[in-house]
Amino acid sequence: MEQRDVVIIGSGINALVAGALLARAGWSVTLCERNAHPGGAIWTSTEHVPGFTIELLSSWHPLFVGGPAYGALADDLAARGLEYVNTELPTGVVCADGSAVLSSNPEITAAQMAELGDLEAWTALMTDFGSKADLAFGLLGTDFWRRSAWKFGWKAYRRLGRDGLAASGADLLEPAAPWAERTFSSPVTRALLTPWALHNGLGPDDAGSAFITTVIGAAIAMGGMPVPVGGGRSLVSALVSIIEDNGGTVLCGADVAKVTVTGNRATGVVLADGTAIGARRAVLASVTPPALYGTLAPEADAARRAAAERFRFGRAGFQIHIALREPPRWTGDPRMAGTALVHILDSMDSLSESVNAANRGLLPRRPTIVVGQPATVDPSRVPEGQGLLWIQLQENPRHVLGDLAGEIDPGDGTWTPQLRDAYADRVITILERHITNIRSAAIAQFALGPTDLEAMNVNLVGGDPYAGDCRVDQYALWRPLATATGHDTGIEGLWQIGASTHPGPGLGGGSGFQVASRLLRT
Ligand SMILES: Cc1cc2nc3c(=O)[nH]c(=O)nc-3n(C[C@H](O)[C@H](O)[C@H](O)COP(=O)(O)OP(=O)(O)OC[C@H]3O[C@@H](n4cnc5c(N)ncnc54)[C@H](O)[C@@H]3O)c2cc1C
Repeated sequence: MEQRDVVIIGSGINALVAGALLARAGWSVTLCERNAHPGGAIWTSTEHVPGFTIELLSSWHPLFVGGPAYGALADDLAARGLEYVNTELPTGVVCADGSAVLSSNPEITAAQMAELGDLEAWTALMTDFGSKADLAFGLLGTDFWRRSAWKFGWKAYRRLGRDGLAASGADLLEPAAPWAERTFSSPVTRALLTPWALHNGLGPDDAGSAFITTVIGAAIAMGGMPVPVGGGRSLVSALVSIIEDNGGTVLCGADVAKVTVTGNRATGVVLADGTAIGARRAVLASVTPPALYGTLAPEADAARRAAAERFRFGRAGFQIHIALREPPRWTGDPRMAGTALVHILDSMDSLSESVNAANRGLLPRRPTIVVGQPATVDPSRVPEGQGLLWIQLQENPRHVLGDLAGEIDPGDGTWTPQLRDAYADRVITILERHITNIRSAAIAQFALGPTDLEAMNVNLVGGDPYAGDCRVDQYALWRPLATATGHDTGIEGLWQIGASTHPGPGLGGGSGFQVASRLLRT
């Protein structure tokens, strides 16, 4: 049987980051990926529409570029040709009360906020956040259940004092809707900022969504919206190359059926075809808790198995991709044509209504539509003079009970191609009011509904793009499980990484970085 130092299950961003760090440090590494290619939720296609580079799933890399994994690997990645490009117009909004942009150029943002009557509020927010930014980013990046977390807590205590710490705890838990109402006078400012909570799996009424909105808002205002030239596959191939150049292997079509456990120690994996691979030092599993404790390692203790059974998945994702023979023609605010990611919604109230509807199993009648325009940042994605829309919806039930608009028959609630396309049509009809040539100039259009997302990546259960509900009881200290301690699984040498674990979903690679750093320290 082949023996490696570490076997990593999966090849998403966290697995690749961990594999690259460990291989670079001299560990022999094998990644086992059940799909035909590595990357997980980074899936770039040049096959769907000739001449167009389409991010079928994730697209925007501020979390990676702003995170510690990139800090550690940037030189090796650049040496393998990875190049990031950025924009001054990362995000904007079109809502019933008007439109606005948030720029990484502070002068543009200041002028915008002044126009909305919210300059003082925005400046105060950024000043306050700036004074605590290390604590905010530190909180999201801390490896809880480690001595370093106590050090972090002590630092926060010394900086803020007892009363300040207690008040910050309350601030951390505030929902975005009351926070935005209290902080900003303009409904446009509220609609500009609060949809960003969706990108961390939250709605504006969820605990913690004000904090997440502030962190993301500040991160975008400071760091823009970087993307890799040529798409996410450039990052994937650079990470794979670090692993392979250091003697590691990335096996595709390698579905891990079982972690071998001998005397409460993980000693390797067995693939679905029966191939066994030994792991001398560690097995890292980038899977969901039900997959880990229910299937791969049922030897774990009963408390973890019971908690994993209760692990909740969140709302489903939904993507629509449209290639256009000319750039999108926006009505209204001309700045939207050059903005990387535009939220289209009625107001913060419609956001609340749609999240609630989806949580209750209903298709929203006024969905919040995320319109991504990758070519505004990386023109190489489209043939010259053409256009590409990466459209995302985050307020979708995993199982559909009905339609808040009373128009679409959900059938038995399964996301069939018919239901998916009917809903995509509603979205495009709304968008036609804002992008007049969205139908007339379309060369190709296709949607990926929840069923498609799960088929593309088994960790996206029910189409949940974040591999687990991100509401606060399943976040931070309590991700992946309320009863578990971080990435530790209770089985020696077996570690859980990936979006289901702290620091949660997104392209930061944080859990892979934390576990690899921990292994390298020991
Ligand atoms: C549609 C969509 C859009 C998104 N957009 C963005 C974005 O723009 N920016 C951003 O920061 N984040 C975005 N996200 C979130 C982000 O992409 C994910 O949170 C992140 O990529 C998850 O990485 P991961 O390391 O958990 O692994 P994943 O990417 O989930 O990959 C896990 C891999 O493990 C494999 N696997 C699972 N079980 C086994 C097994 N038993 N054997 C072998 N292989 C196995 C799977 O096939 C998969 O390839 C988006 C997510 C989705 C779905």
